[in-house]
Amino acid sequence: MTEIGLKAENATLAEIGLKNVATAFWNLTPAELVEETLLRGEGLLTDTGALAVDTGEFTGRSPKDKFIVCDKNTENSVWWGDVNIKFDADKFDKLYNRITAYLSGREVYVRDAYACADPEFRTNIRVVTEFPWSNLFANNLFLRPTKAEILTFDPDWVILNAPGFMADPEIDGTRQHNFAVINFTKKIIIIGGTGYTGEIKKGIFSVLNYVLPHEKNVLSMHCSSNIGKKGDTAIFFGLSGTGKTTLSADPERGLIGDDEHGWAKDRIFNFEGGCYAKCIDLTKEKEPQIYSAIKAGALLENIEFIEDTRTVDYSDTSKTENTRVAYPINHIDNAVEPSIGSTPKNIFFLTADAFGVIPPISKLTPGQAMYHFISGYTAKVAGTEVGITEPQTTFSACFGKAFLPLHPTKYADLLGKKMKESNVNVWLINTGWSGGPYGVGERIKLKYTRAMISAALNGELDNVEYAQTPFFKLAIPKTCPNVPDEILNARDTWKDKAAFDAKAAQLAGAFAKNFQQYADNASEEILAAAPQVSSVNA
Ligand code: ATP
Ligand code: MN
Repeated sequence: MTEIGLKAENATLAEIGLKNVATAFWNLTPAELVEETLLRGEGLLTDTGALAVDTGEFTGRSPKDKFIVCDKNTENSVWWGDVNIKFDADKFDKLYNRITAYLSGREVYVRDAYACADPEFRTNIRVVTEFPWSNLFANNLFLRPTKAEILTFDPDWVILNAPGFMADPEIDGTRQHNFAVINFTKKIIIIGGTGYTGEIKKGIFSVLNYVLPHEKNVLSMHCSSNIGKKGDTAIFFGLSGTGKTTLSADPERGLIGDDEHGWAKDRIFNFEGGCYAKCIDLTKEKEPQIYSAIKAGALLENIEFIEDTRTVDYSDTSKTENTRVAYPINHIDNAVEPSIGSTPKNIFFLTADAFGVIPPISKLTPGQAMYHFISGYTAKVAGTEVGITEPQTTFSACFGKAFLPLHPTKYADLLGKKMKESNVNVWLINTGWSGGPYGVGERIKLKYTRAMISAALNGELDNVEYAQTPFFKLAIPKTCPNVPDEILNARDTWKDKAAFDAKAAQLAGAFAKNFQQYADNASEEILAAAPQVSSVNA
């Protein structure tokens, strides 16, 4: 076996069962990984110097193929079900051995990295990848140790990433050929059959969503975060596509992180060292910071070029709507490093409501905040998934159910406590439709959403008049700087008021139905914050 690159003296691949790989490339620089990718014919350079690759069959995560090993450690703590699917410990060992056998004789790329910007919670990760570009992803998204730290690096967790290894459900106990399996006892994640890099970051996110609340009393959160010049932190919760990455990139504020954070006693911290931004319809005008981050070292996924050029066509969705770019956080010029902030002053819940019912900004009471956190509402619109022709309501507890190994009430209780201790403002933001549902109305303009968030952050909504909406009983400002008054009340933006009331009642009904599963655990205050299915004051 040939070994190239930088590593701790006693670090070996044999200790993780990888005995006969052809060459192990340890901790190559981004430039070296780019060169490897180009030499292997697995990518192309764009005219801004970024590397563009195709991830293959999978261009998104595959939640049905995500498993957790069920053993003594996890049996009674993990919230088993269709989010956390049981995997047999013996089957894990066998599958692990089949992956190491697959990787023998091949070149592999090893990355030593870590998660959690707060030194108290630092988690070292060794990522072994089949492909150099997957390794670049790990470099960009996780935190990067110094050279000196690499020389003494001791991993807490290991990720084995083999997109070319196809599982056999009969032999391996998987659902199909692709899988991501977490083993909390062995502290190993194995990923195979899929090249989608998001599985790597969300694998570690799932790990931290277990370890931090369960063992360290830290709330883990699917949110982005930024900080103002006066040291005021804001966090933005939301499901995929609701605007976490887009809205946290704000030239007026320092970026702490775009997707995963922990809330410890008196501070919040980023789990990651980079961002994973959606590229669909990206323009320099609308999202200047993200646009400029796509330069040498950045990894673009599943994009197309304008014909006969190496200029990316961000409007092209022929491979997927989920085109992405992964870059280290320092590609954003006002990134905060180390990525730590004070206790949040403002919390935003982002929802992309395709029904056009939720107002573009409203201020939540503590009971409503808990109700909406547990509900985790957004909508999926036609086009993003096969078979969806009408907008579909999605409820994902804590705005991240897919990544939560523990029962949602664990996270909700922690957030409830934090909110009581910290006197934080909580806002609900609809980044979705206005003037009617999807197909009739339009998506709320990004510049207005940004203006509403700036106003909330600057205290400009503290002393304005508020009105209350029917059904959802949300407090909406009557005026907001740089936003037309008439879009602040969703009902006013609909031509057909009866149609609005019918849609609002329908959505309120969907909230009520979804909440039934949590009602037994909810306090009077939270239950009283539920929307009314019939409008009293419409
Ligand atoms: P993920 O969890 O998958 O990373 P995310 O919450 O980070 O998702 P973004 O990457 O920020 O989501 O995606 C939001 C998308 O919606 C962007 O492409 C953005 O340009 C677009 N968009 C359109 N209108 C708005 C709006 N009013 N507010 C926020 N985003 C908007
Ligand atoms: Mn994002």
